[in-house]
Amino acid sequence: MTPKVRATGRTIMAKAGRWLAAEHPEITEPGQWTRQTCAAWVAAVDRMKVGDYVQRRDHLRTRTGTPISPRTKAHILNATRMFFRDCQEWEWLPRRFDPARALAVPRSIAALIGTNPRVIANDVWAKLLWGGLNLQPADLPGNSADTYYPMTLIRAITLTWLFSGLRSDELSRLRVGCIRWQHDGHPIPGDSPDILVDDAVCLLDVPIHKTGTAFTKPVDPIIGQAIEAWQALRPAQPHRLDRKTGEHVNLLFSIRAQPVAKEYINHTIIPALCSKAGVPTADVRGNITSHRARSTIASQLYNAKDPMTLFELQAWLGHKDPATTQHYAKITPNTLTKAYTEAGYFARNVRTIEVLLDRDAVTTGATTSGQPWQHYDLGHGYCTYTFFEQCPHRMACARCDFYTPKDSSEAQVLEAKENLQRMLATIPLIDDEQAAVHDGQTALDQLLGKLTDVPTPSGPTPRQIGIPPSATLLPIADVSHGKPE
Ligand code: SF4
Repeated sequence: MTPKVRATGRTIMAKAGRWLAAEHPEITEPGQWTRQTCAAWVAAVDRMKVGDYVQRRDHLRTRTGTPISPRTKAHILNATRMFFRDCQEWEWLPRRFDPARALAVPRSIAALIGTNPRVIANDVWAKLLWGGLNLQPADLPGNSADTYYPMTLIRAITLTWLFSGLRSDELSRLRVGCIRWQHDGHPIPGDSPDILVDDAVCLLDVPIHKTGTAFTKPVDPIIGQAIEAWQALRPAQPHRLDRKTGEHVNLLFSIRAQPVAKEYINHTIIPALCSKAGVPTADVRGNITSHRARSTIASQLYNAKDPMTLFELQAWLGHKDPATTQHYAKITPNTLTKAYTEAGYFARNVRTIEVLLDRDAVTTGATTSGQPWQHYDLGHGYCTYTFFEQCPHRMACARCDFYTPKDSSEAQVLEAKENLQRMLATIPLIDDEQAAVHDGQTALDQLLGKLTDVPTPSGPTPRQIGIPPSATLLPIADVSHGKPE
């Protein structure tokens, strides 16, 4: 475990100790925990509020007394589970229960924990990018004429943060010489058999990180230019110990024999960029932090016009498990809308047909004597049946008495009328009709076969009428001749 994880585990177990002192004072050692104690602890965690069993409350302010989040509950139980598992494995405690079962996160809590990458809104991110590209000494705190770090170093850190999607730990541990340029047809140095194909590509060597080994990823050339500019100015620095790898390395972002603090981005760069860009340092998802750049870039790459696949994104972010990548790659509502529209669900289930409304027939009262006033355009003719959408033969008209062929004089008189109104009507399709529309002639023949003995609205069945030799499907409305009202 890293020192940070160890410290968190200790804090959580101290919390458990305070709970025991309050509720079960008879238990004074981990070896006295039983399955029942675990069950009571799980229940206590589920009911826990902010400020319960803590050492200090002064920093909690108004949050005191609010229920802790499901994720915090899971963290507490995970740390407890880990503690007892290790104690049992090292045989410091007798195995009186199975920590994996007795201290499992209840399903009711796990169900409330979902992926929620804290992506920064596109407009805010665009402003931060602009701020980073135009960062000046006056934007930074302190003496505007002489910043604490050289501006070239600050620009290199800022642009690497804005464009590389690195964790802050990876960024602070980059080595001198981490940038390489590859040109058309040049092999990648090292053991890789690959050859890069197009243009100059900037490759960034990412050091060993929390979930995997060192790897190389392509980044925007602007990062390479900024880092090269800093490398050209960087004075010689003593090698520093990389605590993760145990090596003495030449850290890129280092000056005056000290590495730039990991918190420099959160404490200085981000407030400066927010101030320059005129955006607040927090949004609805919380404070803008260095890690949120990673989820924002991942989300934008995943939702781009030619998006990266989940596996490509996993490799680019350096994740060991694709499930972790899903936390970062959230589909935006825009992408979802586009995909939904392209899936054509609505278009699959309805057919649009053009209807001619004979206004003269309505205004002169001719409709009362049975004269039709609605004419559904079937392509080859018109259907004057008022309840057209209820006719079982609507998709492949059987040409009953309500039918007027387009080449008849009646149809030509209708089309010549000036007082015609064109409208579009949508017809919901049943399964057989959808199949006839999408699956070709065989499905159409099956539909016609089923309808052969189904009476038309005027009475006779298609068999009695005589099925037309070229039965065709209802066409999609052609509205090119004018805008339908
Ligand atoms: S069968 Fe008759 S009612 Fe049905 S669509 Fe054809 S013309 Fe209209």
